[in-house]
Amino acid sequence: MSKRCLRECGRNPIQCFVPPYMVEAMARCEDPAIRDGALVALAHCAAVRAVRAFAGQMPAMMVMPSPARRKYRLVYDARGKDALPGRLVRGEGDAKVRDTAVNEAYDHSGDTFDFFHAVFGRNSLDDAGMSLISSVHVGEADGRDRYQPMNNAFWDGSQMAYGDGDGKVFRGFTTSLDVVAHELTHGVQAFTSNLVYRGQSGALNEHFADVFGVLVRQWRRKEPAEEASWLVGREVLVPAETRRGIRDMEHPGTAYRDDPILGSDPQPDHMKRLYTGPADSGGVHINSGIPNRAFVLAARSLGGHAWEVPAAIWYEAMLQLSRTSRFEDLARITVQIAGDRFGAAARKTVKAAWKKVGL
Ligand SMILES: [Zn+2]
Repeated sequence: MSKRCLRECGRNPIQCFVPPYMVEAMARCEDPAIRDGALVALAHCAAVRAVRAFAGQMPAMMVMPSPARRKYRLVYDARGKDALPGRLVRGEGDAKVRDTAVNEAYDHSGDTFDFFHAVFGRNSLDDAGMSLISSVHVGEADGRDRYQPMNNAFWDGSQMAYGDGDGKVFRGFTTSLDVVAHELTHGVQAFTSNLVYRGQSGALNEHFADVFGVLVRQWRRKEPAEEASWLVGREVLVPAETRRGIRDMEHPGTAYRDDPILGSDPQPDHMKRLYTGPADSGGVHINSGIPNRAFVLAARSLGGHAWEVPAAIWYEAMLQLSRTSRFEDLARITVQIAGDRFGAAARKTVKAAWKKVGL
């Protein structure tokens, strides 16, 4: 937990990419290196939760507008520590550096900016040219002033932070374009519906981050919806037969299975299996599987590129939702927008997709 986050994270919660249930599974692992690292990460998560609880009472987040109100990226090196942002190592327009993580953070945040600008005419996260600030090589303190590479990435309300991973389960978090785009979409969220990060509204917050995270990648690669991959975070996992990604939007609950370290993906794919317990802030990374599947079903049926008609419907819905919206609200609003903007056939298609997941 960075000191800077504790001071300045503002009214928005810190959104970590790796869900707490994955870290908890690692804390039960027999390998002491993995177990001890996960215990440090869990202490870090507890600090994050404390900030989340406190966040609602804090003043508005610090926003750094870009000097020219256009794409403006700043990448910092935290050098294995947790004091953010660290030392500035690459600014907008600067040449590539030797450090791959720096270049990935720069390129992938640029792709995310370009996607929102080209597809929705949005000027950065706040639609007013906010600078995109990233810190790479972020570490976690173990309480005895020793640091380990962070097994996570997060958005703290004003900037991105990426760990290098332990090299056993996770790799560098800048590697994956959809992880970078996922975290930056939490930033867009903060300036739009700003969905409360708990229960169904929190799962919708996660859902939008997954949708636009994956769409940035599909847009960059020009993949049609039928051929596209719907895996989230494939590149940040060290490959193994028991794991394909952090989440699978098309087949929730199958991204990893019987993994000796991570266990099995707990995401439900239907309202009948909605998680109602207290873990993971009321299942924010668990229940997002349900709207995720509805989006993929709608995108596949609508055809073409998912960043065109399906994304237009979901983006408009994200602007219309309120902080406490639930799954049924998103279902209703997307059906309405589909009909109003794209006609009766689109309306029917989106309605059918929601019905398949029990909404
Ligand atoms: Zn997230």
